[in-house]
Amino acid sequence: MYLSLKTRHSNFKKIVYSSSMNKQDITSIKQLLSTEKKIVIVPHKNPDGDAIGSTLGLYHYLLKSNHQVHVIVPNDYPDFLKWIPGEDRILKHDTQTTECNTLIENAEVMFTLDFNAFHRTGNMETVLSESKAIKIMIDHHQSPDDYAKYMFSDVSMSSTCEMIYHFIEMLDDTEAIDATIATCLYVGIMTDTGSFRFTATTSTTHQIIAQLIEKGANNAEIHNNIYDTNSYERLQLLGCALSNLKVIPELRTAYISLSQEELYKYNYKKGDTEGVVNYALSLNNIVFAAIFIEDKPEGIVKISLRSKGNFSVNEFSRAHFNGGGHTNAAGGKSELPLKETIAKFISILSGYNKALNDE
Ligand code: 5GP
Ligand code: MN
Repeated sequence: MYLSLKTRHSNFKKIVYSSSMNKQDITSIKQLLSTEKKIVIVPHKNPDGDAIGSTLGLYHYLLKSNHQVHVIVPNDYPDFLKWIPGEDRILKHDTQTTECNTLIENAEVMFTLDFNAFHRTGNMETVLSESKAIKIMIDHHQSPDDYAKYMFSDVSMSSTCEMIYHFIEMLDDTEAIDATIATCLYVGIMTDTGSFRFTATTSTTHQIIAQLIEKGANNAEIHNNIYDTNSYERLQLLGCALSNLKVIPELRTAYISLSQEELYKYNYKKGDTEGVVNYALSLNNIVFAAIFIEDKPEGIVKISLRSKGNFSVNEFSRAHFNGGGHTNAAGGKSELPLKETIAKFISILSGYNKALNDE
C-alpha cells in the first residue's frame, strides 16, 4: 500500500515517498536494469490515455539507459492519442502478431502496465503468461493477479502514469525525466483523473503535474491535442447519446445506450464514446451512471460504469457484467442483446436501492 508520508517540499525535489515495493525489490530492479536488457512493455487491450502515456513514458526512460525496448499493445487506440512522442513506434499485436510474439518470447524483462490480469490483454494472454521474462507490474486496478516477480500495485493512485513517476523516483532517477517523458506521463494523469477532478487526484498528483510542466510538458497543448480535436460526427454521436439518456431518479441512476446502427450512422471511430458516460454522472443527485455500447462484430455490449462516493462499480461489474476496475470507474461486458442487457441492468439495480440511496 501507499505509504502516505506526504511531506511538504517547497522545492519539489523529492515529492513523496511512496512504495508498495520494498527496498530490496527496488535494489534488485536497479541491479536488473543496470545492464542492457531486452525489454517489452505491455498495456491492456483497447489502450486509453493512461495505458499509452505510461508505456511510452517508461519506454523513453528505459531507452535513455540503452535498453532494447518495445511497446506492444494488444490492439489499436484512439486517434486523439496518435501524437504522443514515440507513438509511431508502438507495435500492435493483433496486426503484427509474429513480430510481437518473437519479441515477447525473447524478452528478458517485461513491464505490464495499467492492468491487473493477463486476460485484460485479450489475445495476448497466452504468449504473456508463457513468457520467461522477469515481470514487473505497475498498476492501480483492484484485485491484481499474482504473476509478477515485482509488483507495484496501488489502488489509491490516480493513474499508472503517476506510478511511473513514483517508480522513477524510487530508482532515484527523476533527473532523467525530460520533456518527452514528462509529456507522456502528463497525458495519462490528465486523462485518468478527468483533468484533475476525480477523487484519486491528490496534492501529490498536482505536485507531480507541476514537476512535469517544469520538465517541459506543455499542458495547454496536451489538453488541446486530446480534447479539442473532435470531428463533427463525434459531436453528433454525443448528441445522439445524450438524447438516449434515461434517468431512474429513485435509484439515483442514469444510463445511456448506443446501438450499432447509431454508431454506424455517425461513422463511429475508436475513442468516440470515451467520456460520454460522465454526462450521465453529471446529473444532479445521480450517483451511478452507465453506458451500454453495442458491438455487433464482437457480439457483445460494452459497458462503462461510473459512480460517486462509496458505491463500488468495480464490485457491481465483477458481480454482474464480467468486468471490474476501480471503485468509481469500471468496465464490463454482456453477451445478451442490447435491450436485454439494459433490462438485466434495471432488474439488478433494485437490489442496490439502499446502497444507492445511502450515498
Ligand atoms: P472503461 O469504462 O473506460 O472501459 O473502464 C473504466 C476503468 O475500468 C479503466 O480503468 C479500465 O482499465 C477498467 N476496466 C475496464 N474493463 C475492465 C475489466 O474487465 N476488468 C478490470 N479489472 N478493469 C477494467
Ligand atoms: Mn489507468
